[in-house]
Amino acid sequence: MTVREEFDAWAADGRDRGMEERHWHTARPILARMPVEAGETVLDLGSGSGYAARALRGTADAGRAYGLDGSAEMVRNARSYTDDPRVGFLQGDFGHLPFADDSVDHCFSMEAFYYSADPHRTLEEVSRVLRPGGTFFCAVNYYEENVHSHGWQANIDAEMTRWSRGEYRDAFRAAGLHVAEQDNVPDRETEIPPASEFPTDSWATREAMVERYRNYGTLLTVGVVP
Ligand code: SAH
Repeated sequence: MTVREEFDAWAADGRDRGMEERHWHTARPILARMPVEAGETVLDLGSGSGYAARALRGTADAGRAYGLDGSAEMVRNARSYTDDPRVGFLQGDFGHLPFADDSVDHCFSMEAFYYSADPHRTLEEVSRVLRPGGTFFCAVNYYEENVHSHGWQANIDAEMTRWSRGEYRDAFRAAGLHVAEQDNVPDRETEIPPASEFPTDSWATREAMVERYRNYGTLLTVGVVP
């Protein structure tokens, strides 16, 4: 199954909303950190249900908020959740962003970047479409230091890129982005049951679950175009 087919099936099942609910715990504080000014254009890569574009319009007063997703079904769902004429969803691929050079002010991506067939090329594309001083807030839960994420590849047919913190920084720099910051954003909202309830279906120990959500959380790498 291709990434597109996989996520078409997820969207048809309504799993876009489930991802939104889970990812929102760390996406919200990350979106709140983006230096978006009123009237600016923002782009969400791998937009799923489209919550990031809706949030950046609603809270940061972005002038235009676009979500790009490879899955036609995801795009269809995202469109159905808003009637804001300044929010738009496009079907496309991370390898060829359908935007002119320097036309986007800020870019966001949550739990999507590592599905790119060529992540280095994707960073070059992000760097191309962002204007000087524009930022890329790239958030992932699947990365090398998060040992609890390593098993995820087994559930997905498409090949996923599992970079370390250092590999993210190196790749950003190779694509011409300065690395402004890198941070582990904790998920404080996922409920962790008391020790007596472990093992659970998903977790052998409470310590492992605490480490996954409260310590590793989401890896955020912020790139800035010179
Ligand atoms: N950001 C959303 C969705 C994450 S799921 C959230 O936080 O819930 C990852 C999304 O990225 C899926 O909707 C998938 O279709 C999209 N995606 C994966 N690889 C892609 C690619 N190469 N080009 C465009 N979209 C892609």
